[in-house]
Amino acid sequence: MKVQRDEKKIWRCSRYNTMKCRSTVTTHGEVVVLIKNEHNHPPPSPVFNRSLSGAPILILNGYRFGYHIKSGLKTRWRCGSARHKKCKAHVYTVDDIIVKCQTEHNHDPPKTYSNF
Ligand SMILES: [Zn+2]
Ligand SMILES: [Zn+2]
Repeated sequence: MKVQRDEKKIWRCSRYNTMKCRSTVTTHGEVVVLIKNEHNHPPPSPVFNRSLSGAPILILNGYRFGYHIKSGLKTRWRCGSARHKKCKAHVYTVDDIIVKCQTEHNHDPPKTYSNF
């Protein structure tokens, strides 16, 4: 076993620029070393769940995102309608905090997820 990536990185809340939110996640290599949960806004609380087929999904503002890829510590989720409607909305999370998102959907939220 050799872990060569020893890089320290600070991830900021996606509202850092617009709201000056101070929440951060600090990672060292592949390990989360510090979480600062100091949101100065109602957190855009994502709900993590599983689809009927067992795939991880994320629900945000009524929209459903499917697990797309994980690169390092960052997980990319893309809109459930990405293929269908060519929707470009996506979310990046690190340790359950949204660090980056593009939530401009080109469609209305699906109405069939009331069971969540
Ligand atoms: Zn925040
Ligand atoms: Zn969408």
